[in-house]
Amino acid sequence: MIKSNQYEKLLQPLDLGYTQLRSRVIMGSMHTGLEEHYEGLGKMAEFFAARARGGVGLIITGGYGTSPRAALGPGSALMVTEEDSRKHEIVTQRVHEEGGLIALQLLNAGRQAYHPDAIAPSAIKSPIYPFPPHPLSEQEVEDELEGFVNAAALAQSSGYDGVEVMGPEGYLINQFLSSRSNQREDSWGGSYENRMRFPVEIVSRIRKRVGEKFIIVYRLSMLDLVPGGSSWEETVMLAKAIESAGATIINTGIGWHEARIPTIATMVPRAAFSSVTGKLKKEVSIPVSASNRINTPEVAEQILADNEADLVSMARPMLADPEFVNKARSGQRANINICIGCNQACLDHTFMGKRSSCLVNPRACYETELVYTPTEKAKKVAVVGAGPAGLAFSVVAAQRGHNVTLFDASNEIGGQFNYAKQIPGKEEFQETINYFRAELEKYAVTVCLGESIDADRLINDSYDEVILATGIVPRDLDLEGADHQKVLSYLDVIRDKKPVGKRVAIIGAGGIGFDVAEFLAHGKTNTALDKKSFFEEWGIDVGFTARGGVEGIKADVEPFPREIYLLQRKSSKVGAGLGKTTGWIHRTTMVNKGVKMLNGLSYQKIDDAGLHITLGDEPRCLEVDNVIICAGQESLRSLQEPLETANIPVHLIGGADKALELDAKRAIDQGSRLAAELQKWMVTPRLTLKFVHNGVKKWLLINAYFSPCYAQL
Ligand code: FAD
Ligand code: NAP
Ligand code: SF4
Repeated sequence: MIKSNQYEKLLQPLDLGYTQLRSRVIMGSMHTGLEEHYEGLGKMAEFFAARARGGVGLIITGGYGTSPRAALGPGSALMVTEEDSRKHEIVTQRVHEEGGLIALQLLNAGRQAYHPDAIAPSAIKSPIYPFPPHPLSEQEVEDELEGFVNAAALAQSSGYDGVEVMGPEGYLINQFLSSRSNQREDSWGGSYENRMRFPVEIVSRIRKRVGEKFIIVYRLSMLDLVPGGSSWEETVMLAKAIESAGATIINTGIGWHEARIPTIATMVPRAAFSSVTGKLKKEVSIPVSASNRINTPEVAEQILADNEADLVSMARPMLADPEFVNKARSGQRANINICIGCNQACLDHTFMGKRSSCLVNPRACYETELVYTPTEKAKKVAVVGAGPAGLAFSVVAAQRGHNVTLFDASNEIGGQFNYAKQIPGKEEFQETINYFRAELEKYAVTVCLGESIDADRLINDSYDEVILATGIVPRDLDLEGADHQKVLSYLDVIRDKKPVGKRVAIIGAGGIGFDVAEFLAHGKTNTALDKKSFFEEWGIDVGFTARGGVEGIKADVEPFPREIYLLQRKSSKVGAGLGKTTGWIHRTTMVNKGVKMLNGLSYQKIDDAGLHITLGDEPRCLEVDNVIICAGQESLRSLQEPLETANIPVHLIGGADKALELDAKRAIDQGSRLAAELQKWMVTPRLTLKFVHNGVKKWLLINAYFSPCYAQL
């Protein structure tokens, strides 16, 4: 085990001869949506500058299309003209001013494009993308190849220190490599030597064009995780050829998009795939970088200490905390805001066409818009509720200089995150609680736990502002038998650990219904932290010898300990409202564990026999020992009225403000934004001016936020 503050390997520079990476941390490529934003490059410049300032060794941008047909979707960012190149100068300049290095990622989506001009080696459609691809002629293969070379040269003239050639994840290069998508009979298909010519030519032609003093990272699919993917021998053959072609660094890619195996979500164990990088590292002599679910300095250091990699690539952790490396260097591990792998504000946003951010750091990609400036006059603020909303508010307000006291009825901070972290696969949520605890101390927030606060106390203590972050209460059910002894709330189960029988019906299939099902369906092994069990559960070859890492390997799901029904009234697919990039994982897990998901039903009553429902026109009794209510929540804001009556300025955030569709992303974002705005939000009593104008009596109401006193607050 690595002791804290001992990250020598991670913090060591990497000397490439003509340049030096200041640490072993690569900020991995992530599409953030700034690539296409009309003011995106300016925002991106500050986004990356913050990470360069934070000590990252090499930054890799989101993917840029290398030709119009290479684009991910209509209007996706390209690097094809001199004008494209010129516009990027602001990005490279800002990163260099902060002492960092930056490479542009070159991407050709191939058949994974969301537009009708999608291309591929052969006319074989991806199972999960809508457009049948046009099969490239030999001349068109040449054109796409030259697109990569041209884009690399343009990147060089914008000031980039290198490029990353995006080889994995089922994009065009991967499509050439696999017989699953390449059934050509010319010199680009057939044997593996022919199929790998495409990436090898790309690297060798780029090297020839850009000269020796330019970084070429090749991101190589080390595990395709699809049947028909590369064999281990082919992967090694490619890596050696890429090295000979002139690559500087080989980075790890895991899984095609169409693979039905989670590769980065929070239930994937930390560093789950580092051993495949370690296996490849033995085969080449250039530096290799590990990736996927590496989110803490100690995990990263361990990979380097175990000689599994020379570098560690982290993408989402750099959204969560731009100062990750500096904090590791200066002994502030506890203050690193750790990525919890939720995907809620990053990848889910990307897949919805929205700008990425981060659930635990709403400033990510909003560096120029959400700014925490010091206050000119500190206010005395009470925050009631130490859930994500109250914590985020307290830390940002205190950081800006306000005098904050935070109350919670519970004996620990974290609010509902204390329940979330108990769900198998969500253990990472503890990291957010730890981070906030360290920040509360750093910014001297007065924390009062174990005290249920009433309005009188807040009124008597004369606060300038009161923030109600009191969260929610679970919704009661209006149903005959709702008070039957077999009925439990999700808090009875998760928080109070009340005994639950072998046969269970869960009313409500939202995020919490799924989590309770996961909690109850789990066997003895905690797969979330155990790589071997994770590999077995998802059918991955632990030795990486099977083709694609999966061919011929049978998933080995533990026998489930209970019979579980997960129920909803809506007729939509159960779990349709879950996260874009994680919902399918939850649904697959439920199916694998034998959970019966029923939709389009109505509830009739609960009695000794069980839960009576109507499914279609059929009355049915689910003979269960327990019925668990996960039917949403209602805001808890009973303090609002007495405080307002006493003329105390009150703000509601998180669940206290709105329970519907509440999640931690909204709670933290709202808390942070309110704290950032506090000095502008002076709530004064209403002032009514009465006057006579042209013989007519008039009045002017000057309301709360119109205040010339802004600047002094
Ligand atoms: P809360 O977290 O509810 O905190 C409110 C706090 O106020 C509590 O600590 C309470 O003790 C305190 N309080 C209330 N009244 C008083 C009073 N009078 N005096 C003092 N203290 C008081 N969200 C996600 O985004 N992603 C997930 O994956 C996710 N998983 C979840 C899994 C589970 C099992 C659960 C239960 C929730 C999950 N959530 C998830 C939801 C997320 O936790 C909530 O949206 C978030 O916690 C709401 O934050 P909040 O600060 O508004 O309220
Ligand atoms: P939710 O997502 O709103 O789901 C509540 C469920 O209860 C719905 O499926 C609804 O479905 C049902 N329901 C609502 N009113 C009902 C009633 N009167 N009687 C019976 N059923 C009723 O809320 P939640 O599951 O409690 O989750 C709370 C929040 O936490 C969510 O907004 C979610 O974003 C967040 N969370 C997120 C995750 C995650 O993985 N991202 C995990 C956990 C929680 P029908 O009306 O169709 O029956
Ligand atoms: Fe990590 Fe979640 Fe933030 Fe994405 S939104 S960077 S997964 S913490």
